[in-house]
Amino acid sequence: MRPSGRLHLGHLWGALDNWKRLQKEYECFYFVADWHALTTEYADTGALRENVEEMVIDWLAAGLDAEGSTLFVQSWVPEHAELNLLFMMLVPVPWLERVPTYKEQREALREKDLSTIGFLNYPLLQAADILIYKADCVPVGVDQQPHIEFTREVARRFNNFYGRVFPEPEALLTETPKLPGTDGRKMSKSYGNCIFLADTPEEVARKAKMMFTDPARKYRHDPGHPDTCPVFYYHGLYSGEEKQREIAPACRTAQIGCTDCKALLAEKLARAQEEYYERRRKIAAAKEGIWELLRAGSVRAREVAQATLAEVRQAMGLPGW
Ligand code: SF4
Repeated sequence: MRPSGRLHLGHLWGALDNWKRLQKEYECFYFVADWHALTTEYADTGALRENVEEMVIDWLAAGLDAEGSTLFVQSWVPEHAELNLLFMMLVPVPWLERVPTYKEQREALREKDLSTIGFLNYPLLQAADILIYKADCVPVGVDQQPHIEFTREVARRFNNFYGRVFPEPEALLTETPKLPGTDGRKMSKSYGNCIFLADTPEEVARKAKMMFTDPARKYRHDPGHPDTCPVFYYHGLYSGEEKQREIAPACRTAQIGCTDCKALLAEKLARAQEEYYERRRKIAAAKEGIWELLRAGSVRAREVAQATLAEVRQAMGLPGW
């Protein structure tokens, strides 16, 4: 995960909750992708350290466990860069140019100069990040699937030239809710519509009460359309399906007003946030412990990465020490 600072509920439901489950079933490696952050934020790195810290506090508060998984910082495992360099020797440039997100992102981030080698290379760095651990599976959303396919192609090309070193990883697609922001659009910092994991329960309740509802319901007596209402969606996650089943007909027949419906959600959200907020506060109070944990995780990750690289060097015929 790229360190972009404080995480929001979209991250919690879209990734962290899933990661937490996976660490019970798999040997998991989760890393702070600080080099990836540089692919777009190279010109302004002032907040990078703080962003790493805030993100990892959120990881831990959300239940990621340094015992159950290996949590580390990408740039502290320089083997990722060496493998990336070796891949550069065999991967044709057009493979990178045709990665769908390459053009899309350059369009979306027009204000930045993304004509850099680093930005073009990021899917290949990602392939190195995955293959260096000989990963069997990578938990991703559907939009990230082309990157896993790209990684498989890189593994195949390497194995064809030098003999089989890498397994071809599978995308581990999990149904994760796509949480709308408070204005109904995708939750994103750039839209200013986030509920942050670091928000106090009071702040969360305030944001819930200001949420957009069914845009077609202008007056209290208008019948609502719960299926297009973000508040209704949140009720499914925080109040439960039974409550949702109660709200749906009441909304459609205008028996319940949006103010009351949002007040109910605000209460549920604030209650869920209380526990999380308290855990986060305790973790944030011992910041040196977070860096310690990342250092220990990076040492563990390096052991695996170095073993893979030794195999890679040998397979490629590079001279040993
Ligand atoms: S009553 Fe609830 S579900 Fe219906 S439109 Fe209002 S906020 Fe949405």
